[in-house]
Amino acid sequence: MANDYYSVLGVSRDAAPDVIKQEYRKLARKYHPDVSSEPNAEEHFKEINAAYEVLSDTEKRAMYDRYGTVPSAGMNGADFGGFRDPFDIFTEVFGNLGGFGFGQTGRSGPRRGNDVRVNATLSFEEAAFGLEKEIGFERLEPCPTCNGNGAEPGTSPERCQECNGSGQVRRVQHTILGSFVNIANCPTCSGTGSTVRTPCHECRGGGVVRMQRKKIIRIPGGVEDGINIRLAGEGDPGERGGPPGNLYVNLHVTAHPYYTRRGNDVQMEMQVNIAQATLGSTIKVPTLEGERTITIPAGTQSGTTFRLRGLGIPHLRGNGRGDQLVVIHVATPTRLDAHQRQLFEQLAVTLGTENIIEEKQSFIGRLKETLGL
Ligand code: ZN
Repeated sequence: MANDYYSVLGVSRDAAPDVIKQEYRKLARKYHPDVSSEPNAEEHFKEINAAYEVLSDTEKRAMYDRYGTVPSAGMNGADFGGFRDPFDIFTEVFGNLGGFGFGQTGRSGPRRGNDVRVNATLSFEEAAFGLEKEIGFERLEPCPTCNGNGAEPGTSPERCQECNGSGQVRRVQHTILGSFVNIANCPTCSGTGSTVRTPCHECRGGGVVRMQRKKIIRIPGGVEDGINIRLAGEGDPGERGGPPGNLYVNLHVTAHPYYTRRGNDVQMEMQVNIAQATLGSTIKVPTLEGERTITIPAGTQSGTTFRLRGLGIPHLRGNGRGDQLVVIHVATPTRLDAHQRQLFEQLAVTLGTENIIEEKQSFIGRLKETLGL
């Protein structure tokens, strides 16, 4: 038995419609799977939507109050279309409530088109700074041969005999709770109200054909691997006047040979030799903005991180950008010529052979130590 819809939304049984809507909004924000860190967010979200679908509809709510259940309740709420998108959740959840297609799925009447998904691969730098990119994808479009009506050119669709052109048939469903009149799509014309005697040879009467499309999309700087860009209304067309689906471009960012992304910071590792680390040195480092020099002080330890402010990745939303982090590794020489070997041997005598046990604290402290430049 599903939870009581009123308790799911946290409202009283006599709550006014706008209170229900308000509480629903709050919960939808909290549990939207794209923004929520709550456990089982998606399940919760579905539950909330199922409850809202019933309680926001006067007739369904009355039926629920009376019988404690609504036929097929919660089933239509399962199809959210393409809401799983980190980019447009704000319009989908926060700006355009009720636009989830409630009451559309499986009924006669308009049906939203399917979403179309494509992949796009970006380099590390492209993801950092953004670009305009042409992407190719396939989607359904009205058949150019029959202009989308499904009838062979020279013929035209006819009114459906079964439903008399209404696209709907009424069925009475008898249940233990009583009889319900169910209005369903006409099986003969699939709810279109018309039938085609001679189907179009191009689309076989469907009225749509899959077409290859190209589109230039603007990818903002700061995007991350795995993110989706939503292009509203660029998916498959809707049926019976329903809105089109969306196009989702899933971004894949290729790994960089030496940069690693840490949030909006860019981290890289840099080797210095033992003399540079001991005496201090000025070294050149590559950055997203070209070469920069950093001065490492005398006595720099392996693991010390230098921070180049503002040379990281631009923030996806808002201004500013991250930093570049340069982690220094002191390289121990593996090949010495005779003279170098002699110098090290002299050093060895003066430095002695006493070793110090390093406490965990000081090692971790050094790893975390970050010097701003
Ligand atoms: Zn056609």
